Amino acid sequence: MPTRDPALAERDPEIARLIRDEAALEARTLRLIPSENYASRAVLEASGSVLTNKYSEGYIGKRYYEGQVVIDQVEELAVSRLKQLFGAEHVNVQPYSGSPANLAAYLAFCAPGDPIMGLGLPFGGHLTHGWNVSITGRYFKSVPYGLSQKDHRIDLDEVRRLAREHKPKIIWCGTSAYPRTLDFAAFRAIADEVGAKLCADIAHIAGLVAGGAHPSPIGIADVVTTTTHKSLRGPRGAVIMCKQAFAKDIDRAVFPGLQGGPHNHTTAAIAVAAKEAMTPEFKTYATNTVANARALAEGLLARGFNLVTGGTDNHLILIDLTSRGVTGKIAAKALDRAGISTNYNAVPYDPRKPFDPSGLRIGTPAITARGMGASEMGKISAWIDEVVKAPSDDALVARIARDVEELCKGFPAPGLPM
Ligand SMILES: *Cc1c(COP(=O)(O)O)cnc(C)c1O
Repeated sequence: MPTRDPALAERDPEIARLIRDEAALEARTLRLIPSENYASRAVLEASGSVLTNKYSEGYIGKRYYEGQVVIDQVEELAVSRLKQLFGAEHVNVQPYSGSPANLAAYLAFCAPGDPIMGLGLPFGGHLTHGWNVSITGRYFKSVPYGLSQKDHRIDLDEVRRLAREHKPKIIWCGTSAYPRTLDFAAFRAIADEVGAKLCADIAHIAGLVAGGAHPSPIGIADVVTTTTHKSLRGPRGAVIMCKQAFAKDIDRAVFPGLQGGPHNHTTAAIAVAAKEAMTPEFKTYATNTVANARALAEGLLARGFNLVTGGTDNHLILIDLTSRGVTGKIAAKALDRAGISTNYNAVPYDPRKPFDPSGLRIGTPAITARGMGASEMGKISAWIDEVVKAPSDDALVARIARDVEELCKGFPAPGLPM
């Protein structure tokens, strides 16, 4: 008699119910957090598979455990598809997530105390680009660059000046809250001038890059890191792509430098996501994500909102609420009650504190994955305007939550049970 192996709903009704609750929440709300998305059913299936059972420290053909006949093929598919998708020379699919992927770049190229440069967190950079509370700001000499006072765009003159002065080992080019196109070639020129490695972190925009809706850093940057779960629509994970010359350094940094066994279920789901991202539908998705962000920005501008840099080139919009007399936190919490999920965020040169800043960060990857378009963007900008005008009007907020739910019914999200 085999041991009984009950389904989740029977084994653990509490967790089963919470998963159902989260699915329902994701179905009935407008998810505007720009780092979030809906993974497809195929990605979720691969991610929830028995591949989680297997240990496979090492790389394809060079493992420290036996029984890799299947796992090697899974990793090979993930690597070859990503090479094809991005045109990369070398790909490592093992980093557990975006933050450890970035740590691998440090471990490959820096010694403790070395100077490094990245966009400061309050200007839209990521913690792992040297911010002081991160290990990357504590173990390296971080020299953050900022945005121009004038137009709130990356100030390349400042990047060059700081790079010449501090001779960083790594210059990071990549953002978590920046609404404009990144000029990888300009960063390359600065890195070359000072002998730095150029690391592009495309965590947010990987899907746009894959779909041709943002320029690619491949062939320009020495190393490109990305998460796989944001605009790329894969499982939670990360990949590192690099020039062949750095393949050994990067691979050794990931394993055995930072990690043990790779998450093979995630590797499989990354392979599925890469396959999906090579389809014409995904190209359309990337194009539409940017078009929707533009439409949403136009709708907000028409309603008198102030947007950082005046608009967007990518999937993301940073609203400066200062002129609307409401803080980011109050707006985000009211919008959340209205079924519109956003996050409060600092704006450049924000006079307010990070736990209650002046801005709201929104983006279109998830709502575009549901098939929403220009007409829905118009409705969403009107709702945001109404809520920001009266964040404590409970009747209004409840009415919008019902309207949001009604709209969402017409746009079933990938991966969610119907
Ligand atoms: C999201 C993000 C990361 C980190 O990803 P995690 O998977 O949350 O560790 C790294 N860099 C940038 C630019 C990001 O936006």
